[in-house]
Amino acid sequence: MTNSPSVSRNGAHGASQHEPHVVIIGGGFAGLAAARELRKAAVRVTLLDRSNHHTFQPLLYQVATAGLAPSDISVPIRWRLRHQANATVLLAEVVGIDATRQIVRLDDGTEIPYDFLIVATGARHAYFGHDEWSAFAPGLKSIEDATDMRQRLLLAFERAERTDDPAVRDANLTFAIVGGGPTGVELAGSIPDITKRALRQEFRRIDTRQTRVLLIEAGPRILSTFPEALSRAAQQDLEGLGVEVRLGVPVTHIDNDSVTIGEERIPTRTVFWAAGNVASPLGRMLDADTDRAGRVKVATDCSVPAHPNVFVVGDLSIVMRENGQPAPAVAPTANQTGQHAARMIVASMNGRPRTPFQYWHKGDLATIGRHKAVAAFGRLHLSGYFTWFLWLFVHLMYLVGFRNRASVLLQWGWAYVTWQRGVRLITRNTVSGNMVTGNSTGSRSASASAQVAAPEAVSPAAVSSNAPAERDLRLV
Ligand SMILES: Cc1cc2nc3c(=O)[nH]c(=O)nc-3n(C[C@H](O)[C@H](O)[C@H](O)COP(=O)(O)OP(=O)(O)OC[C@H]3O[C@@H](n4cnc5c(N)ncnc54)[C@H](O)[C@@H]3O)c2cc1C
Repeated sequence: MTNSPSVSRNGAHGASQHEPHVVIIGGGFAGLAAARELRKAAVRVTLLDRSNHHTFQPLLYQVATAGLAPSDISVPIRWRLRHQANATVLLAEVVGIDATRQIVRLDDGTEIPYDFLIVATGARHAYFGHDEWSAFAPGLKSIEDATDMRQRLLLAFERAERTDDPAVRDANLTFAIVGGGPTGVELAGSIPDITKRALRQEFRRIDTRQTRVLLIEAGPRILSTFPEALSRAAQQDLEGLGVEVRLGVPVTHIDNDSVTIGEERIPTRTVFWAAGNVASPLGRMLDADTDRAGRVKVATDCSVPAHPNVFVVGDLSIVMRENGQPAPAVAPTANQTGQHAARMIVASMNGRPRTPFQYWHKGDLATIGRHKAVAAFGRLHLSGYFTWFLWLFVHLMYLVGFRNRASVLLQWGWAYVTWQRGVRLITRNTVSGNMVTGNSTGSRSASASAQVAAPEAVSPAAVSSNAPAERDLRLV
């Protein structure tokens, strides 16, 4: 079995150096599920992630719209695995995989050998060949993305408050969300809440209730993976909140001052992107077939056909269900494929045959604003207030082990009642970059570069402690 000097230097893990070395790249749902599944296995696990924290992505939109704080939905990965003696967590960016030599390469040149590899590096947003839009229309995948969105959202109101020009004010009070999937719907539904309630009393020169929110979807309906009746219900609920839902026309241009839908140019200073995904580039380093989005077509046991000791799981993989359809790119698929890969490793070690992955679909849920949701559980289709409570319950269940359920419930309840102020802090450069001074909408190129704020860094110190009581302080 491989010896891995960079890992064995760390005396934290309790397994013998002669036990097989399982390297997991990515501490999202899939990577963490795999690591947890191996907790009793006679292996050494090394989990590598470029970020020190695991993020509960389904609630990112709440951070982006100033409803929850980043620490409410994230935990340091090493804290999550603190009791797992056979697991070592390393903060590291993986830049290469050589499946023939059985090594992964880090950005500083370090090579880590493995006996088994699980690649779980997920996906990022894609702009359908218009990468130049990324500067004006950020997507939502990480805590950094969410705090960037929150910053843009709050700054738009600050600019609107400062200007005397009605056109500039209106552009700043217009928010466009591109993509009518669950993320777009949840983002669009959350903005009216903050504008009509939380911000209303805080501004003197603008009426935040005048805010315009557009949800733009090129297809014929929002929530296209849900049954049609639920799409219609969700659209009605959004429109009830004041959101303009634009269907059937694609976005053709985005810049610092506007979004263009078909031929119609709409002045806006804030566009959010929730429309497309591209898989992590590591998937293309594995001698495997990939689909157009770069997702790896894995064998039925989630391994790479040319390299049976390499598994690809979660959003980076495309794995078929029994009905011949690919499993959806959602958290349950990530959890289940991660667990399956881990079980297949144990089976191989014990000389047992591998079994095909079987996907269990748990249903689809999406919220609309603070009080409504839609849900599809097989033939059971639900919408309205009750469904929102169901959504709350399901998400709290999934936060188990993440944080204390009761504490989260209390904190959320308090945040909902009080519109917690702390999450509406603007913490980065405002006046020179994102603030419009005077009455103009600003130079496009100059403010464009300023608008792409550097992600808030996770300092090295932030990964050094395991003390549970301090874990929230170590997040942004
Ligand atoms: C905004 C949003 C809302 C969602 N809502 C829902 C929902 O309501 N319900 C649902 O079921 N699903 C939802 N999903 C989908 C779900 O979150 C994903 O399917 C799931 O997170 C995929 O897990 P993963 O482990 O494959 O990837 P991720 O969770 O994305 O984790 C990938 C990890 O790999 C790390 N990484 C990437 N590249 C490297 C590298 N080169 N080196 C080191 N580390 C690297 C990243 O830092 C990250 O920690 C949502 C997703 C988003 C973005």
